[in-house]
Amino acid sequence: MTTTRQDSAFVALESYLAKTVRIEQAMTYLEWDIETHMPAGAASQRGEQVAALTEVRHARWVSSELGDLLEQAESSGLDERRQAVIREAKIERNRAVKVPVELSAEIARTKPVAGKSWENAKASADFGVFRPMLVTMVELRRQEADALAEGGDRYDALLGDYEPGMTGARIEGLFSGLRSGLVEILGHVRDSAANLPDISGRFRDDLQMKLARELASTFGYDWNRGRLDTSSHPFCCGSHNDVRITTRRKETDPLECLYATIHETGHALYEQGVDPALGSTVLGQGASMGIHESQSRILENQIGRSRGFCRHLFSRMCAVLGSAGVGSPEELYRAVNKVRRGFIRTEADEVQYNLHIMLRFDLERALVGGDLEVDDLEGAWNDRFAADFGFEVDNAANGVLQDAHWSHGLFGYFPTYTLGNIYSGELVDALFSDVPDLEDRLASGDTDALVAWLRHRIHRHGRLIEPSRLIAQAVGHSPTAEPLLRYLNAKFGELYGF
Ligand code: ZN
Repeated sequence: MTTTRQDSAFVALESYLAKTVRIEQAMTYLEWDIETHMPAGAASQRGEQVAALTEVRHARWVSSELGDLLEQAESSGLDERRQAVIREAKIERNRAVKVPVELSAEIARTKPVAGKSWENAKASADFGVFRPMLVTMVELRRQEADALAEGGDRYDALLGDYEPGMTGARIEGLFSGLRSGLVEILGHVRDSAANLPDISGRFRDDLQMKLARELASTFGYDWNRGRLDTSSHPFCCGSHNDVRITTRRKETDPLECLYATIHETGHALYEQGVDPALGSTVLGQGASMGIHESQSRILENQIGRSRGFCRHLFSRMCAVLGSAGVGSPEELYRAVNKVRRGFIRTEADEVQYNLHIMLRFDLERALVGGDLEVDDLEGAWNDRFAADFGFEVDNAANGVLQDAHWSHGLFGYFPTYTLGNIYSGELVDALFSDVPDLEDRLASGDTDALVAWLRHRIHRHGRLIEPSRLIAQAVGHSPTAEPLLRYLNAKFGELYGF
């Protein structure tokens, strides 16, 4: 094919894909609205709107027109960007083509029913209430995985939606030394006589939001291309020129609002930092859930909960909120890193969080693979929890029923949280060796070097580079959990005296 013909074929493909991307973007903001401002009475109308757009989007991915465009545009000698566009488009198209429409529709119909059943079960702390719907959901997702895997591994097929190219076996390898290392740290913390402080006081809602906005600005969040609202579960959504974040508030604990904002700002910086030239293409967003989570966790944990940043945060809390709830920057550092005994993943600290995730990863992988049945799930959960955390689950709402994910059919999503933490351990190692005075800079609220580094290594690439290659390129080798474990041992060893 001549260069000109190849060029025009590619232009046609990109223009087709750009329209699909815009439809997907529009769906994102409709969903954002559901969580933030939509009047309650609009729920069913909104449901119909989302369903109609879902149908349009699906038709565009499976169309013969797209098949022809891909065939015409594909040829040898394409540059990196064009190869990446074709790779990403084929992943989406394959998924849409392989899963029977009736099965996708059945899963979509089951989600709200399973969600309701999970809510009822959680309210009564009775797993038996949720069990029949979970059996249905697991069965549907097994069928979907079989359609996608075509004889390959079921769990890997589902994982690919969230972490393209990753496999359950590779995750198992990455996680293997982490679990025993964390259980050991947790044991040391339990045996320690150290008594870390808590925040106390009452903090006005409007002042919490004022400081939350200021902190997002401190990290370089672009308000001209974003906004901050509140929702029951904080999230970040959107891409390119419209990347929105949410937070939540608690009168007695401003840290919840502030750290949720910092976390979501990490996600938002990633999306706002993608090369604008990729904006409305299939490459114009973060590479994977795991890479995304690394960006939010670095800001929230290794940076946000560092001694240096706590000095800055202490002075800003005193100035804006009137108090930091503790008496010194060092006390704030100790309060934000306190390890508390608890059952709940979303409230867990840096030590316990990944134990929560590894538990869920092993159980859901066995469920999807057929090695564990729903009837045995609660017992398996409770046994594993007691072994890793050192105490017993008191009721199902604090155990197997605590997360909504499985009721939505999300299997393969959980491990991306810990992948994010592992990647963040590697990235921060490389970051501190490139910017050795970062801690001092953070103490005065200077994040320029941090953000420039993340932009250069990760953000600007969008989906141009596959996740595993992106992270290996950013840190100079294939990632392992070793830097994360070393960081946690050093930090909590000093705090708890082991
Ligand atoms: Zn996140």
